[in-house]
Amino acid sequence: MSKKWASRIGLIALICAIVVAYRWFGLGQYLSLESLKAHQASIHSYYLENPALVAGIFALVYIVSTALSLPGATILTLAGGAIFGLGIGIILVSFSSTIGATLAFLASRFLLRDFVQGKFKDKLASINQGVEKEGAFYLFTLRLVPIFPFFLINLVMGLTPIRTATYFVVSQLGMLLGTVVYVNAGTQLAQIDSLKGILSPGLLLSFALIGIMPLFSKWVIGAVKSRKHLRKFKRPAHFDYNMVVIGGGSAGLVSAYIAAAVKAKVALIEKHKMGGDCLNTGCVPSKALIRSAKILSYFKRANEFGFDALPAKADFAKVMERVQRVVKEIEPHDSVERYSGLGVECIQGEAKIRSPYEVEVNGKTLTTKNIVVATGASPLVPPIPGLSEVSYLTSDNVWNLRELPKRLIVLGGGPIGCELAQSFARFGSHVSLVEMAPRIMVREDEDVSALVTERFKTEGVAVLAGHKALRIEKAEKVLVCEFSGKEIKIPFDEILVALGRKANVKGFGIENLNIEISNKGTVAADEFLRTTNYPNIFVCGDVTGPYQFTHTASHQAWYVAVNALFSPFKKYKVDYRVIPWCTFTDPEVARVGLNEQEAKEKGISYQVTHYGIDDLDRAIAEGEAHGFVKVLTPPGSDKVLGVTIVGDHAGDIISEYVAAMKHGFGLNKILGTIHIYPTLAEANKYAAGVWKRANAPKKALEFLAKYHAWRRS
Ligand SMILES: Cc1cc2nc3c(=O)[nH]c(=O)nc-3n(C[C@H](O)[C@H](O)[C@H](O)COP(=O)(O)OP(=O)(O)OC[C@H]3O[C@@H](n4cnc5c(N)ncnc54)[C@H](O)[C@@H]3O)c2cc1C
Repeated sequence: MSKKWASRIGLIALICAIVVAYRWFGLGQYLSLESLKAHQASIHSYYLENPALVAGIFALVYIVSTALSLPGATILTLAGGAIFGLGIGIILVSFSSTIGATLAFLASRFLLRDFVQGKFKDKLASINQGVEKEGAFYLFTLRLVPIFPFFLINLVMGLTPIRTATYFVVSQLGMLLGTVVYVNAGTQLAQIDSLKGILSPGLLLSFALIGIMPLFSKWVIGAVKSRKHLRKFKRPAHFDYNMVVIGGGSAGLVSAYIAAAVKAKVALIEKHKMGGDCLNTGCVPSKALIRSAKILSYFKRANEFGFDALPAKADFAKVMERVQRVVKEIEPHDSVERYSGLGVECIQGEAKIRSPYEVEVNGKTLTTKNIVVATGASPLVPPIPGLSEVSYLTSDNVWNLRELPKRLIVLGGGPIGCELAQSFARFGSHVSLVEMAPRIMVREDEDVSALVTERFKTEGVAVLAGHKALRIEKAEKVLVCEFSGKEIKIPFDEILVALGRKANVKGFGIENLNIEISNKGTVAADEFLRTTNYPNIFVCGDVTGPYQFTHTASHQAWYVAVNALFSPFKKYKVDYRVIPWCTFTDPEVARVGLNEQEAKEKGISYQVTHYGIDDLDRAIAEGEAHGFVKVLTPPGSDKVLGVTIVGDHAGDIISEYVAAMKHGFGLNKILGTIHIYPTLAEANKYAAGVWKRANAPKKALEFLAKYHAWRRS
């Protein structure tokens, strides 16, 4: 047995012994109003003869009874006033009660915290965070309003991460007012007939008001603080708009749409193309390109599907023309015409924020109650020596290519790099995928990276993980990389930089307002997606992150529109609990929630359930029998912590798990749902089945086996 456990058992034994003694000797009878009144005079005269001794014994009794959460604190507090008078009574009671409460808090922490925090780690995570941030404040409120029994506060707070010194000081301050009231009542003991008399409804109400006061003050301080910056600017007497949105990408479009839907007057300013990155240079063209590449990959597998060899060669220019046709076809969804029809005033031009109430565009100043910054992000191009001397590609201009590069270097093994590398390789480029990390798709688990890497290699992509780009030598047209301490030269015709995306935070006026930029280079926002210093300037989409997806941009846009238009009456904290995403390589890699590496980093215990899609009827029929569904659950529970799916249409079939996580249903419910046969979505049900078998009640099954044997006998 460890020392800690031995001490725990010792402490429990001591507590039990004192509690038993308290009951056995009937000490409770002395802690009543009648008993106190009866003995008050004699104790008081003894106190006058032996002040230190009586004060010492009183403090000790008070501390022990509070530490053990024994009933009688009220009587003892009254006794403090009755015996020692107001001044000394307050000092004695205040310190004794705080020391006793802190001992109870420490006992709870020592005996229970490890167990409770270990068992309910996930559930307590946000509470812990809240306590770390505002624990002192909440404790003060709880102490001031005597609604919850103090012994309960001691026990519960012991389980949280609040510091002991903070607990002591805040408890003492918070209980002081109550102590004064009770000790004072003790000095008037002769007039008190019952304990209820001390806490009249009027007194309770004033306690409650005092308790609410810190909350109210916090709200007032917040409002004053946020208006501190606004005060410097002249507030227009009348606003032209309720909301001006800067940027007509996914985030800006959705926020403007919601504003118009609730009949607010909204202007949407776009300097380039409506639809932003997603439509013009991101999701849409990349998925159109991936589609052509996939079809070509089937041509190459013609024999496998029962055809004679098909011409497995791409007309790259035609492929890129199709990509543009797809963009054109989707364009009306994000067009000025559509949004104007929905009630949004669309303005073509470059916006500049002149003040928190004014946005300038095309030489005209628009006044607005709220501003939404949705300016997106741009490809990150690091200062690699020699790079600026060659005409490198990024996701912005790769769509202008009409000639297939013979040798293409894709710099960056993240989602964009992987999607484009595979597509270009399928069209016939010799693609080198250069990644500094030891593997591509580093955010995903190792088995995921391994599977995709394997596939890339069989399709001819040179996956160069662990390669650090050092410089470009223009004359030779080579990228020099460091790999295992050596320099390696990789020749190329084109080089595509896909090393991430940096938020567009400059050039439109936020620097003049000193709007806070996070250490990730994005516009910092609070939980309501307001900039940290202006309550009426909101941000959404890639410009603030933390996720850079179209669906998260539009998710944030809803919060932005509602919070801008309806606060202070109603506002919502943005909810990032269940965020899915997909990398559209072949096979696709889709994820929601935790994967194994994140669970390990966060110290979250989990059980893995693995279902191989190579076993799935529909996948076999499709010629796509590869990949897996990996589900993480807490050990012994069917609750979904996270799912990774690698396989054909993984991005579609993961939705069932997204719904499960969002709405709190588990694997048992997925198993109990009818899935159409034969579909890829059945993989979800089979994964749930694997989990069920692994968690089958063994004893019950043994019993059933015996039961059936008995029925046969
Ligand atoms: C190659 C690639 C593939 C991708 N694939 C996917 C995918 O499959 N799924 C997915 O979810 N996400 C994908 N993304 C990410 C997705 O495109 C972005 O997350 C999304 O477009 C972000 O939207 P946004 O509104 O924040 O920014 P943007 O779409 O960038 O919109 C910002 C807009 O603001 C305008 N603007 C900027 N400054 C001003 C100014 N001062 N005045 C007026 N207008 C201004 C810009 O012109 C731009 O149109 C992909 C991205 C790339 C690059």
